[in-house]
Amino acid sequence: MKGTCPICDNQFNFQDDLEVSEIITCQECGSRLVVVSLEKNKVDLEEAPQVEEDWGE
Ligand SMILES: [Zn+2]
Repeated sequence: MKGTCPICDNQFNFQDDLEVSEIITCQECGSRLVVVSLEKNKVDLEEAPQVEEDWGE
């Protein structure tokens, strides 16, 4: 499946197990993106809302 970063137009190739509302990070511009919809072979992405990251160390 393919998608395009809405920020920098970077092209992504996703695995087939991608799910709606999954958060990904654009390696090109570093933006956090959320999967808003999945069509047959196209992934629709939007900039994810900013959240505090707390992954611990
Ligand atoms: Zn990007």
